[in-house]
Amino acid sequence: MTDQPPVTLLGPVEVRRLAEVLELTPTKSLGQNFVHDGNTVRRIVAAADLRSTDHVLEIGPGLGSLTLGLLDVAAALTVVEIDPRLAALLPTTVRAHAPGRYEALTVITADAMTITADRLALTDPDRVAPADPTALVANLPYNVAVPVILHLLAEVPTLRRILVMVQAEVADRLAAGPGSKTYGAPSAKLAWYGRARRAGSISRTVFWPVPGVDSALVAFDRGDRPPAGDRAAVFAVIDAAFAQRRKTLRAALADWAGSPAFAEQILTRAGIDPSARGEVLNVHEFARIAAAREVIDAAAHE
Ligand code: SAM
Repeated sequence: MTDQPPVTLLGPVEVRRLAEVLELTPTKSLGQNFVHDGNTVRRIVAAADLRSTDHVLEIGPGLGSLTLGLLDVAAALTVVEIDPRLAALLPTTVRAHAPGRYEALTVITADAMTITADRLALTDPDRVAPADPTALVANLPYNVAVPVILHLLAEVPTLRRILVMVQAEVADRLAAGPGSKTYGAPSAKLAWYGRARRAGSISRTVFWPVPGVDSALVAFDRGDRPPAGDRAAVFAVIDAAFAQRRKTLRAALADWAGSPAFAEQILTRAGIDPSARGEVLNVHEFARIAAAREVIDAAAHE
């Protein structure tokens, strides 16, 4: 890519100018806080540790700040933006700031929660269809960050690596391990797919408008194999355990099992102390609980 014109990133003046072109008043409900600092974009792209063969998926490209940084290094980039005004302006911005990389971009106007691997394969017929996305890199809309990550990991099995900017508390939760105060259902569910870690903090001043919360980066690598068992069944146990996280598992899983006594029977069969709390269990132990129930249910129907 050395003989291509250089990619130029968006600064504060350009971000405001693009917003004016659209007469855009950023909305809180869509988490519209735009990065206007090139160094932050470069930092996110570096932390994503992309290979030149990566096909990157970006959720919420907004005015294109991170999009331009990603186009500089990725083989192909597919972006999914829910706001049709932002999605429509993006190709013009990319032509102006990354003219040599325009062909690498595919824009999908949609809610990220509706994205499937099939939808991503149905790219613009004028483009060379890239292979399925291998990495997710995004400054995620904060109110839907966790469901979007979990949805895409389930729907797009080719995604191996994730680098996302999220609210700092959410970053802590996603990267937390069993026994910590911040460990919860999102931590255990993400651990089903692989390993997450915090990858640094981001200052509020790099955004326009300045958000009311702190931000942080989370890096994630998909594991080679998820724990044994049915994902939906394991996630149901996780949800039940954390819905009442201060209770013992015997009590917290009573509704899920049908009664406290049956919850105790399942836990004992799984080799888990019924008086323990869900916050000390790792994802493999949650999987053992789901499997134990399956065995007991199957025996009862024989
Ligand atoms: N990536 C840009 C940046 O760093 O400057 C914008 C990030 S901004 C925090 C989040 C973006 O996600 C906005 O452009 C917003 O319109 C978009 N968005 C919000 N909810 C979405 C959803 N459910 N699916 C796709 N995009 C969404």
